[in-house]
Amino acid sequence: ALSAPQGLPDVRERTLIAVKPDGVQRRLVGRVIQRFEQRGFKLVGLKMLQVSEELLSQHYCELRMKPFYPSLLHYMTSGPVVVMVWEGHNVVQTTRMMVGHTNPVEARAGTVRGDFGIHVSRNVVHASDSLEGAKREIQLWFQGKELLNWDSCDQTITCEL
Ligand code: UDP
Repeated sequence: ALSAPQGLPDVRERTLIAVKPDGVQRRLVGRVIQRFEQRGFKLVGLKMLQVSEELLSQHYCELRMKPFYPSLLHYMTSGPVVVMVWEGHNVVQTTRMMVGHTNPVEARAGTVRGDFGIHVSRNVVHASDSLEGAKREIQLWFQGKELLNWDSCDQTITCEL
C-alpha cells in the first residue's frame, strides 16, 4: 500500500473533474481524460449521467445569487456529463492549472479551456477549486462504493516524494 515517507505529511488527495454537456457533445471526453492520465494522476471514479437540478443547486450553491445562475443550470442539465474523481499529489491545484481560467479568453493555450473553449458559459470542464471543495463535491456526486482504491504500477514515481 502507498504511504507517505516517515516525517512527511501524506499529500495524496482527490479532486472532482467533470466534462460538461458541451464537452460531451463535442466528443472531447477522451482528450480530457487523456490529459490527466498522461500527467500522472490516477482515475478512481468515473460515470456518465444526466444531472438533476437538485444536485446542481447543491454543487453550485455559492453561485445562487449570480445573474448567470439560471442559464448555468439550464446549460448543465442540457445533456449528459461525465464526472470523475482523480487522485494524486497536489491534484486539486495541478488540475485547476491544467483546466485554466474560468473564462476561456483568459485561459492559456495548453489548458483545457484555453485549447477547447471560447465562451465562459461553455467552458467544457469543471474542476474543484480547493481541497475542501473537492471533498464536498466528491461526496455530493459519488457514493463511497463508486470510488476504487487501486495500486497503479507507477505510483512510486507519480505519487510519492
Ligand atoms: N459561469 C458563467 N458565467 C460567468 C461565470 C461563470 O456561465 O460569468 C459558469 C461557468 O460554467 C463556470 C461556472 O459558472 O465554470 C462556475 O463558476 P466559477 O466561478 O466557480 O468558475 P470555475 O470554478 O468553474 O472556474
